[in-house]
Amino acid sequence: MTDLLSIDEALERVLARARPLAAEDVPLEHAHGRVLAEPARALVDLPPFDSSAMDGYALRAADTPGSLPVVARIAAGRPAPRRLEPGEAMAIATGGALPQGADAVVPIEEASEADGLLDAPQARAGSHVRPCGGDVRHGDVVVDAGTRLGAAQLGALAAAGIATARAALPPRVAILATGTELRPPGERLAPGEIYEANGVMLAAQVASAGGLADRLAPVADDNAAHRDALARGLDYDVLVSSGGVSVGPHDLVRRVGSDLGVAEIFWGVAVKPGKPLWFGVRGRTLVFGLPGNPVSSLVCFELFVRPALLALQGAADASPRYEPAELARAVRRNAARDELVRARSTVRDGRTTVEPLSGQESHMIARAAGADVLAFVPRGDGELAVGTVVRFLRI
Ligand code: AMP
Ligand code: MG
Repeated sequence: MTDLLSIDEALERVLARARPLAAEDVPLEHAHGRVLAEPARALVDLPPFDSSAMDGYALRAADTPGSLPVVARIAAGRPAPRRLEPGEAMAIATGGALPQGADAVVPIEEASEADGLLDAPQARAGSHVRPCGGDVRHGDVVVDAGTRLGAAQLGALAAAGIATARAALPPRVAILATGTELRPPGERLAPGEIYEANGVMLAAQVASAGGLADRLAPVADDNAAHRDALARGLDYDVLVSSGGVSVGPHDLVRRVGSDLGVAEIFWGVAVKPGKPLWFGVRGRTLVFGLPGNPVSSLVCFELFVRPALLALQGAADASPRYEPAELARAVRRNAARDELVRARSTVRDGRTTVEPLSGQESHMIARAAGADVLAFVPRGDGELAVGTVVRFLRI
């Protein structure tokens, strides 16, 4: 672990190996969070017909201003009974189909109707009319390939008549915590033991990245146990282990992984926390050996595993999404490693500031629980002053 890779180099090596998985058809109601594998094209013009943007009266602009007989009433979902002839008006609801012959709508608020006669003010052709195909045209792309489907995208697909989305399969991810000292929460700790924190945390991160997490039973620092568990994990698209990747005699993940045919791509990244991160591949399986300290696991997941899961789903931009903010307090820099500092963000008058929390050691997961962002502090000398613009990741 003498030559540490930069974060960017390490990420590049990960993404180069994270090719999109096969795609399947997913009913829209199950497609939230999935990534489109192909562009989705509208099955209809949207709107599918000229329609009214207001509750009001359909008429011909050329007949305004004027007094016009109201010859029909058009509800949404029911087309006009006949064409609108010159000199006529028809009452129309928002979303109602504009009758043939009409070219404008006068809102109810701007007209008055008495005894079947409408007193209409001057109207412009096209006013308060939603033209057919004005949002998107039949056959045009509604949502592009590589887009992760959120609420707006699902609404757009449904409006365009699309009932199923073609989406990459969700990556199947095995999560394995290693360490003889680990006990499940809920049990009693024997001397020297600690509670196992990474499994539940990593499973939550996997789910939020669109993956399907399977937690394997944690293993002790024992060759045979590592062998069995890692072998199982290698049947998945991604194997994420925690612990056991440092230089100690009980750090077995790399050695056993390599015995099982995992080719090491890198070991050691110039990042704090997370330096001993190990990454390898076997066949199409990506293998991440995260350091065991919970904050190291948390951070390494955000920097490397989340991007890999998004890339496996074909996301157009899988890289971490940094945003700018001002530092609310000075931060000392690490000379050799870029640091992801746990911090709390505040937005005031549209300006975001991030305040690094106290307790930045990599075992301090309880302190990290107070953070909503990771602030990126580039390696270097001295400190970053209050007000310095840094980038941050939301967690
Ligand atoms: P390791 O990377 O195995 O050397 O572990 C580094 C530190 O993280 C040690 O103090 C471990 O006890 C702790 N640790 C490892 N795995 C976990 C886990 N799953 N949950 C909580 N702490 C862990
Ligand atoms: Mg360990």
